Amino acid sequence: MSKSDDQGLRPATKLVQGGRRPEWTGDPRLGGGVVNPPVWRASTVLYDSIADLKARGRATHDKLYYGRRGTPTVWALADALTEMEPGAEGTLLYPSGVAAISAGLLALLAPGDHLLMVDSAYEPTRLFCDGMLKRYGVTTTYYDPLVGAGIAGLIRPETKLIFLESPGSLTFEVQDIPAIAAIARDRGVLTMLDNTWATPLLFPALAHGVDVTMMSLTKYVGGHSDAMMGSLTATGAVWSRLRQAAYQLGQAVSPDDCALMLRGLRTLDVRMRRHGENALAVATWLADRPEVGRVLYPALLDDAGHAIWSRDFSGASGLFGFTLKGADDAARARFIDALAHFGIGFSWGGYESLVVPSDPGTIRTATVWSDPDALVRLSIGLEDPADLIADIGRGFGAMAG
Ligand SMILES: *Cc1c(COP(=O)(O)O)cnc(C)c1O
Repeated sequence: MSKSDDQGLRPATKLVQGGRRPEWTGDPRLGGGVVNPPVWRASTVLYDSIADLKARGRATHDKLYYGRRGTPTVWALADALTEMEPGAEGTLLYPSGVAAISAGLLALLAPGDHLLMVDSAYEPTRLFCDGMLKRYGVTTTYYDPLVGAGIAGLIRPETKLIFLESPGSLTFEVQDIPAIAAIARDRGVLTMLDNTWATPLLFPALAHGVDVTMMSLTKYVGGHSDAMMGSLTATGAVWSRLRQAAYQLGQAVSPDDCALMLRGLRTLDVRMRRHGENALAVATWLADRPEVGRVLYPALLDDAGHAIWSRDFSGASGLFGFTLKGADDAARARFIDALAHFGIGFSWGGYESLVVPSDPGTIRTATVWSDPDALVRLSIGLEDPADLIADIGRGFGAMAG
């Protein structure tokens, strides 16, 4: 039994209770405890004696040793994330989502190894593969996100890892994760998933056969656009390799940021429901508009990924794309510039709605993005969806000129 399986609680309850150990939130000498672990800022840890120093050096988690190994604020967040993921042994925290991805790939790959990377991956993930991993002698093959069981034909003797991201960045293809994970396990290949869009709340990745699940906590877990962090949560089979690499790479996070992430995590269930409801309202409205070519959102019944999404996911988050029929760059810019309730900005998953233009055609290598219409990505926030819809309607007016 893994650490996360020893309580039969439902996800929303785990979000509230996770990581809240009395020894981190209370001090018997003060007569009681508080709800949240205080922000423990530390570099130096003081020992009672040399014997004490020696003994604590061997403890790897939940005993103070040195600031880089964390304090109760950090452990509380890591444990809460572990408890959200049935089948997990533990969670490591990184200063950003990209740092989590690069540290995971460095931990699990060595010179001569082969990596299968999904063609719809977040662009900085590709940059790491084509840059640093290539320099260190790791070969990357990009594969079609819709490959499904066809992944078997791409596995070579030296393939060590299959990286997935579902739905895909910018284009929102839904991968058949259980099929790919089952084949990988059968062939002795590890799988790692970028699960930032769904979080374990909507898609518990390890329970679907994935070995390592990654999140940019910057997005929905933080939820308020004011902190950056990344996480890797893994099964017992790879957990110690990831932890050793994180120690060797010196990956550490600020306890202040962990306190922000813990605050966000507690309300993830209610926020995610509202993000999903709002996004579905906006996406459904868009799908019927003459200005729109197509909407890329697996929660819509006629989306190409809907069947697999509804089989595997328990809900949708608030990030999706749509094309503007017949629109070029300039028309797209007129549309976006006219929006009053959507900030123009990267990142997503915050309480406020955001919009960015996206151009997947220039990024892909294994598949072709041939849609000539300009693509837009929306992160739907917690506003009243009627205000967002009215705003987009005004944007269409401005686009027409
Ligand atoms: C933003 C993002 C990341 C990177 O996260 P940062 O915290 O910004 O480094 C990784 N994957 C996906 C899908 C993202 O959207």
